Amino acid sequence: MILLYHLIFPDSTPKDTWNAGKVLRLADFKRHMRWLKTRFKIVPLEAYIANKAWENRTTQIAITFDDGYQRTFDLISPFLREEKVPTTFFVNTSHLEDGALLWFVYFNALCFEKSYPEINIEGSVYPLKTQRQSAVAWKRLVSLARDSGDAIAFSEAFSKKYPLPDAIVQNYLGLRHDQIKNFGNESNLELGGHTHHHPYLDQISAEDQLDEILMNKRLLEEISGNAIRFFAYPGGVYDHSSIDAARQAGFQAACAVGPKQIGADPEFELPRTDVYSPSLLALRAKLMGLADLLSRMGLRDA
Ligand SMILES: [Zn+2]
Repeated sequence: MILLYHLIFPDSTPKDTWNAGKVLRLADFKRHMRWLKTRFKIVPLEAYIANKAWENRTTQIAITFDDGYQRTFDLISPFLREEKVPTTFFVNTSHLEDGALLWFVYFNALCFEKSYPEINIEGSVYPLKTQRQSAVAWKRLVSLARDSGDAIAFSEAFSKKYPLPDAIVQNYLGLRHDQIKNFGNESNLELGGHTHHHPYLDQISAEDQLDEILMNKRLLEEISGNAIRFFAYPGGVYDHSSIDAARQAGFQAACAVGPKQIGADPEFELPRTDVYSPSLLALRAKLMGLADLLSRMGLRDA
């Protein structure tokens, strides 16, 4: 099974903090990894993909992170090195050029960091005082962005009305140039492609999909000096053209979240289990249930 994490916050973050989901603090993440080690074998994504046998896919775990937040990386990388936890980071690159947050990350920070007591969305006032109110506003913004057909332009226009303080922007930015460069020296940490701007791939032309994917891959390869071998569809959203573009860009495999099974090669629609709760019990239930299901499917296959 491939696990998908996003943001990890410092341990000083209050337990009830939300950011479009329960926030995982460093201690929660460490607890997850230590438990996983007792029950599964944590392997590099490459090894997981190479070994297609059902029994391996149920007893082995590959760890992935999407979006590549610089603060999260600084927090967890010493632990990952010490504990030798192989991890793949699927990272975007547009911030290296414009210093801006990814379009949906801006909405996360706007709604949950409380820089504004309320925001006006399309003529309606949305207060941002409680977690529930923030979640309502966040859902509305993400849904309007998707419906607009150009989520990136929608978010950019909105951010002009409600700019965020630099201190908050810094907390949510993607990997720094030096962090990407240092991946060249890391033996158990790998960089993967995640497009330049994190668009909804199914809303842009086949040509634009390839451009987004290639620009990101080229930048990551130039800066890190490493080949970028694996890709993850932004938001888990893809269509036939996305699969073709990932193959054409030279990736060896591509990760989805819930695979649509629309292509000929399952290695370009690898399922991942997303982890949005610090609860170890929730993680155990999710994985044990999945492992059981997968092994039964494996038995049926045989
Ligand atoms: Zn993403």
